[in-house]
Amino acid sequence: MLKKEAFIGAIDQGTTSTRFIIYDQSYQVIGSHQMEFTQFFPQAGWVEHNPVEILESVRVCMSKAIDKATEDGHNLDSGLKAIGVTNQRETTVVWSKSTGLPLYNAIVWMDVRTSSICRRLEEQFPGGKYHFLETCGLPISTYFSAVKLLWLLENVDSVKRAVESGDALFGTIDTWLIWNLTGGSHSVDPTQNTVTGLHVTDVSNASRTMLMNLKTLDWDTPTLETLGIPSEILPKIVSNSEIIGNVAVGWPTAGVPIAGCLGDQHAAMVGQACRKGEAKSTYGTGAFILLNTGEEIIKSNHGLLSTIAYKLGPNAPTNYALEGSIAIAGAAVQWLRDSLGIIQTAPEIEDLANKVDNTGGIYFVPAFNGLFAPWWKDDARGVLVGITRFTNRSHIARAVLESICFQANDVLDSMHKDSKEKAGVTYEDFLLRVDGGASANNLLMQIQADLLGSPVIRPGDIETTALGAAYAAGLAVGVWTEDEIFSTVQLEAKATTFYPKLEEEQRKKKVESWYKAVTRSFELANLSL
Ligand code: ADP
Repeated sequence: MLKKEAFIGAIDQGTTSTRFIIYDQSYQVIGSHQMEFTQFFPQAGWVEHNPVEILESVRVCMSKAIDKATEDGHNLDSGLKAIGVTNQRETTVVWSKSTGLPLYNAIVWMDVRTSSICRRLEEQFPGGKYHFLETCGLPISTYFSAVKLLWLLENVDSVKRAVESGDALFGTIDTWLIWNLTGGSHSVDPTQNTVTGLHVTDVSNASRTMLMNLKTLDWDTPTLETLGIPSEILPKIVSNSEIIGNVAVGWPTAGVPIAGCLGDQHAAMVGQACRKGEAKSTYGTGAFILLNTGEEIIKSNHGLLSTIAYKLGPNAPTNYALEGSIAIAGAAVQWLRDSLGIIQTAPEIEDLANKVDNTGGIYFVPAFNGLFAPWWKDDARGVLVGITRFTNRSHIARAVLESICFQANDVLDSMHKDSKEKAGVTYEDFLLRVDGGASANNLLMQIQADLLGSPVIRPGDIETTALGAAYAAGLAVGVWTEDEIFSTVQLEAKATTFYPKLEEEQRKKKVESWYKAVTRSFELANLSL
């Protein structure tokens, strides 16, 4: 059989694992590899990754996915036309330009070590928590890169010294990967001591730092000055779909252009073909719900963020989004697996939870690192309420699944309130597109539809993040057109729709009980040992 000639690769560097997926021109996966990497929890509330381990995971995934595709008879030497990069957002790295080595571990998006810095900033500025909202669309929160960078500047001597000597580079994971993929600190020609790595980020990742102006799509000088962040350490901001540079010698895909870069949630929006008025929810380590608000920046009155949806080309229009982020979704399932040992693998939670028809009246709030949208409570911590002698492992497993859906429900509720007022989107014809590792769980998706009271549609391929990065790269090199990538035909072909079955009265009662549980989780950060 004649194999298609053009292939596009996607690096999907997530919070818990890295993937490299190679697609053919008809969006079929011809090779992929995935591997988990180490999560470091040095103190309560702290979460770190080793940037070098992440880089190596990319190398291994690339190499193994290429081997798989090659074994199956695909010619990648001439056929791999471009690579797209998508990544966990906000996670912050500072490294040395000269050695190429990180100056500290990557501080992961969910890490809350910066809560005292946030409180200080809130007290310092007249606008409090919302001082920078007008410019960057975000409240002051431990979540975003700027405060993680401030922590590094204030607490790590090697970072301070490197900034002073002009040797420091700041980046989110996309920036770290692209800088290394395009040469890092190694010169191509050993006789020339030139730094070849390209120091870039894209509009979507930049929109999560608190430092980018949402309107100009450039670093916001007044914000940088106010926070004391040196502009020299920041990368150049590019669009989501353009040729950024070529992969350097020494990598398995040497010579191939990197032509797409998007934060994971923005890539999922593209992968789910979300146009104006359409929303998607991705269930990974956290859960992230984004509604495309078109070319208009909508400011939320109900605890959501304004952010970039995507900008597919340097001259393409910018689509914005309202976003609700949930820090702990699949991570709560991992906690049951790794810390409590109630399950051996994440998918086992479905069978365990299915052993009971309901939670027996218990509610779990996984506020492990505070609560993000719509609550924004850094000092919240996890609670399990309503426990009796009757409660068993299955009830807990079911309460964990419900907690993921209740949190998504809170965000969607805010989204509907905001959009009804401002974007004309209503519940009546609402349909939620879902994806991400945990969306494979049928019970989770049914609970989501029940709690939402709207249908939930899951595409056949739930790796929409990688697909979105591939789309963006393929678009830039002319393998696909925009009409092709926004056609939902292939998404819908093998999709499963979950329809709500819960009585409205029952739904309301459960949501009320959930609110009771959520409020019990507030102000628990400093309980004594
Ligand atoms: P990320 O990109 O954030 O690393 P993924 O999209 O790979 O996340 O999804 C992995 C997460 O989904 C993990 O937290 C895991 O516990 C959870 N998960 C995976 N499969 C299931 C399942 N069948 N049911 C519930 N949770 C699951």
